[in-house]
Order: sequence, then C-alpha cells, then structure tokens
Amino acid sequence: MDTKQLLEWSDKHLMTFAKRYPVALVRGEGVRVWDTDGKEYLDFTGGIAVTALGHSHPRVVGTMREQATALLHVSNYFHIPQQIHLAKLLCDHSFADRVFFSNSGAEANETAIKLCRKWAKEHGGSDRGDIISMRGGFHGRTLATVTATAQEKYHHGYEPLPGGFKYVPFNDLKALERAIDSRTAGVLVEPIQGEGGVNIPDDGYLPGLRKLCDEAGIALILDEIQTGMGRTGRLWCHEHAGIAPDIMTLAKALANGVPIGATLATEEVARVFTPGSHGTTFGGNPLATAVGLTVLGTLLEERLPERAARLGRFLLERLEALRAGQPEMIKAVRGRGLLVGVDLTPPVGDVVAACRERGLLVLTAGENTLRMAPPLIVTEADAARAVDIVGEALGALRR
Ligand SMILES: *Cc1c(COP(=O)(O)O)cnc(C)c1O
Repeated sequence: MDTKQLLEWSDKHLMTFAKRYPVALVRGEGVRVWDTDGKEYLDFTGGIAVTALGHSHPRVVGTMREQATALLHVSNYFHIPQQIHLAKLLCDHSFADRVFFSNSGAEANETAIKLCRKWAKEHGGSDRGDIISMRGGFHGRTLATVTATAQEKYHHGYEPLPGGFKYVPFNDLKALERAIDSRTAGVLVEPIQGEGGVNIPDDGYLPGLRKLCDEAGIALILDEIQTGMGRTGRLWCHEHAGIAPDIMTLAKALANGVPIGATLATEEVARVFTPGSHGTTFGGNPLATAVGLTVLGTLLEERLPERAARLGRFLLERLEALRAGQPEMIKAVRGRGLLVGVDLTPPVGDVVAACRERGLLVLTAGENTLRMAPPLIVTEADAARAVDIVGEALGALRR
C-alpha cells in the first residue's frame, strides 16, 4: 500500500489525536526504525520513553512468542504466575509491598488516586479526599487524571471536571505547605516533569515534599511513569533524592511497549483495598506481565540504569558543546540520565521536522523544548550522531 493512500485514510477514519507527522513506521531494531518508504531513522523518542530496551529486543520477542503460545489471557479471578513474579520483583527492588496492575499510565494514576482517597478517609477522616498536584505536570487523559494534570489546555471543553483536585506551582514547598489542609488526602507529583518540559526540581524539593506529607499525615504519590525503569540513571528517579513515596505509578517502559500500568504501595496504604474495592479485566494479564518480568529482569541484569546515567552525561556534554557553538539557537540544556530537554529559540516544531528529514526522531515538551528519551541501550556513536543531526537541523534553520 502506498504511503499517500495510507495517510489519506488516516485523515479520514481516525479521530484526531495530535497533529501527526507524515510518516508511518513499520519496522524497528534497537535504536533504529524504518518507515513505509524504507527510510531509516534514529529513534530518540523511544515511543515516548517506552522502548527502554529498544525495538525488537530478542528477549522481549522471545517472551512474547512463548507467552502467546502458552496463555494470553485468563482474568484476575485466577492467580497469574507471571503477575505474581513481576509484583515480587518490583517489591524486591523498591519501597513497595504490593502492586496493582492495569493497562496504562492514566489507569495506574486513577488507581493511585482511588487508593489514596480510600486510605486517607479510613485513616485521616472522612473529609480527606483532595489531591494536590503541580502546575505544568502531566498525569494522563482520563477525566480524573486530566483534572490532576494542572494545565488548562488539557481541560478545555471537558467540563464539568471531577472535584477534589487542587494545584500548586511545581518546585514550591511554601505554596504546598499553604495548600495542605484538613481535606487533603495526598500529593501527586512527577519527580521530574516530563511532558511539562523536562523540569528538574531543586535537590531539596522531594525530601521537602516527603517531610510535609509526613507532618500532615497524607500520602506522597510519585508518578514515575516516565522517570521510572532506569530512565534517569537510577531504577526509580526518587532514589536520587534518598526518599520513598507511599504510592508510585509506573507504565511506559515497564513492558517495553506492551500496554501495562502498575500502582505500587506500602502495606499500610495498600491494605485498604479489600475484595471488590477495585478491579480490571485486562490488567496484569499473562502476556503483559511476562514481558514486564523480562524487561525489569534485563534492566537489572544488564545494569541499564547505570548505563543510562553514563550515556546521559555523554549526551548532555555533546548538547552543551552544541549550545556553546550556537547559543542563539539553544537557550538551555538539561536532563537526568536519558531524559533530556533542550530549550530552543526557533519553534520546536520546525526543529523536530528538520531533524526528521535528516533521519532523527525526537519529542517535544513544555512550551518550546526538544525532548530526547532514547532506548537505554543507545550507544555513544548513536548519541553523538543524534546531536550532530540536531546541529545540522539548527544550522539549516538559521540560514
Ligand atoms: C505518559 C504519562 C502518563 C500517562 O500515561 P498513558 O499510558 O498515556 O495513560 C502519566 N504520567 C506521566 C508522568 C506520563 O509521562
């Protein structure tokens, strides 16, 4: 089928998502993908921070083949061995005691919000239902999670929005302290705002959040959907701050592209879910959790978080050098591990398009930030090549 026809049908039969790029991808291997015309790209989007092990990873493919033949789906009325093993592995390598599996990031956050409210009502008082989240954050597109996403552009047209959500500026402990009251159930925050622009808070912010939540007797919910699974150079981003949340949500990279979400919590919080409190048809099914087990196992065995830290430093150094050479085009470069943001002077959409023409796929974030979230298996040669392409793209736009 020719690409033009395909894109026409896309325009005609799909509900609009964002403005899609005029490219249809059909094959991937490692850090590379190919489109319908056979053109090769370096994929520094990682499917929006999803494909941590790269495309067509042999262990992921192997697990999918095996599990598809063995058992795809049964429902959560039965014990699912892969789900149990993945929950145990997640708990062995985190603060958590228990896990609830779902199918996406938004669902993992919905679960976190429900769990937090139920815990707060049972332990703090029946008035406690408010969730405080941070301006510029992103938590998903369902009605509750889009409401927790404190950005007007995502709310417009969907009113009435569910109640019980309050917002404060990111990286502002004083504002949070003022906002917490007798109705607060918990605080929901990304340790680094991903979609919001790769916004990295001050070093004292997460410890400060932990302290405020402890003093108020409310839950700290960390949304590590983008920052988790080694992306920032530690398995969980909150490890950089030396604190632990009460609840943590995961999704994106957990099964390298097979849809999955996970809500992790301490025993103290998790025990308020009793039979019938919450449920899911697909969540934690044998396929998704078998792949999750392979992904987390591989991340740990191959020490990919450390690799992300090392490659992230390399990528940042190269980008800083690029900025030094084109300071009028690049305002700032920042990142942790392989979650990197580049604040641009020219419109980021033009830069993304110019990169794509030259064979590099990158993401946007925030107002005018180019975002990179390549697979954690990326090599120095590919990272260097990506920065060269960004340089060429900026050079072409300057002329
Ligand atoms: C992507 C993302 C979500 C939403 O995940 P979906 O799987 O798209 O529902 C939530 N929170 C953060 C921090 C994310 O990056």
